[in-house]
Amino acid sequence: MNSKKKLIAGNWKMNGGLAANEALLKAIMAGLGDGGGAACDVAVAVPAPYLAQVQSLTFGSAVAVASQDVSQHEAGAFTGEVSVAMLKEFGVRYALVGHSERRQYHGETDVVVAEKAQRALAAGVTPIICVGETLQEREAGQTESVVKRQLAAVIHLNGHCISEVVVAYEPVWAIGTGRTASPEQAQAVHAVLRAQLAAASEHADRIRLLYGGSMNAANAAQLLSQPDIDGGLVGGASLKAPDFLQIIAAAR
Ligand code: PEP
Repeated sequence: MNSKKKLIAGNWKMNGGLAANEALLKAIMAGLGDGGGAACDVAVAVPAPYLAQVQSLTFGSAVAVASQDVSQHEAGAFTGEVSVAMLKEFGVRYALVGHSERRQYHGETDVVVAEKAQRALAAGVTPIICVGETLQEREAGQTESVVKRQLAAVIHLNGHCISEVVVAYEPVWAIGTGRTASPEQAQAVHAVLRAQLAAASEHADRIRLLYGGSMNAANAAQLLSQPDIDGGLVGGASLKAPDFLQIIAAAR
């Protein structure tokens, strides 16, 4: 059941700019108020060039810094990649891993996703591991098998307990489309994931399972009231401070 603190993580994707980031973060932090003001944990996953800016702006606030990806490699000849050690230097607390846009446009396989999750965990960065089916897979009745396969790839990470990760269920057909999974559809998949986690770990109840896919100020409360939904991964709505704040407020 849902006694753990929820997590609302914004995913800015490839959006932002120095001035816009500052305005957005200042509005979010003002909305949260002095003592953090949120009954839940809050994070923003920002493009890598802005990590230094966002670290400095959010320092001492309730807003944690997250990256949108992490390399599976430790260091070396991997042009364009960003290592977890580098992310740590900028105060990164969470790293998105296996977002559907990485799987779709950058060919990330379940194996690569597991390597990235492992790399993040080993450095003390919490991976937010994304799973989710495409519309075609849903229509073919494959939702359960797809998300179970994706979760199975990360469920036994060397030397780590699965309870150290965050899992985000993001149906691909709901991401950036304005088409949200109904609370019942989302809960049904979250229950499947929870059961799979419970079979692997006695700490499954502690794992935060986020829902992502067109979550917004209007639908967040209903989604977040489902028994196995422990937070949200929010794309578009995280770029608008009032909307993001309303989602945070709904995460009690
Ligand atoms: C996402 O990028 O993870 C996401 C859920 O996007 P959106 O909220 O815009 O659908």
